[in-house]
Amino acid sequence: MLIRWGKIALRMEKIPQTVTSRFSHQGKMQRLGKKELRMERNKWIWMPHPGHLIVSRDCRFHLNTYVGKYIVSTVGEYLPDYQVREILAESRDIILEGKGDNRLADYMKKVGYEEIGSGRKYETMVFASRKSDDKCCPYVAKDWIEVDSDGYNDVDEAMIGHYKMCNKWAK
Ligand SMILES: [Zn+2]
Repeated sequence: MLIRWGKIALRMEKIPQTVTSRFSHQGKMQRLGKKELRMERNKWIWMPHPGHLIVSRDCRFHLNTYVGKYIVSTVGEYLPDYQVREILAESRDIILEGKGDNRLADYMKKVGYEEIGSGRKYETMVFASRKSDDKCCPYVAKDWIEVDSDGYNDVDEAMIGHYKMCNKWAK
C-alpha cells in the first residue's frame, strides 16, 4: 500500500513486523557520493506518537520520524485540557461563552493554541535514537539531550522545518 501525501509517499509494507531485520545496519543505509552514509527517505519510519515534550499528549500537531541514528520530533498546537483552559482564560481576564464545542470554539477565537516554548507554538527537536520494544514507535530518544532544534509559529513552517531537519540528520 502506498500512501501519498503531497510529494511524500510512504510504503506501508516497509514499516511493520521485522523492523529489526529489515532495517539492519547495512540494509538501512545508502552510500552517497563521498562515502557519506544517508538513510534513504523511503526508509524513514514515521511514528504515530509524539517524540518529545511532556504536554505532547495535548498537542494536536505532531510528527515523529526515525531517520537512521536520530529521531526528529516536531510538536505544536498545544491545547490544554478543559480545566486548564478555564483557568488560563480567567487569569487573562477573558470571558468564555457557550458550552461544549461552542465554548471550545470561543476559546480558540479568543485564546488559541498556547506556546510550548518562548515565542514558539511549534518546535522540532532532534535526539539520538535507540530501539524500543514498541511496534508503533520502534525508535525513541536515547536520552533527552537534543542535538538540534528549531521553533515556529506557523503550521506550514513547522511541516517544512520538520522535513529540513529530517534531511539534515538522515545519516
Ligand atoms: Zn507509539
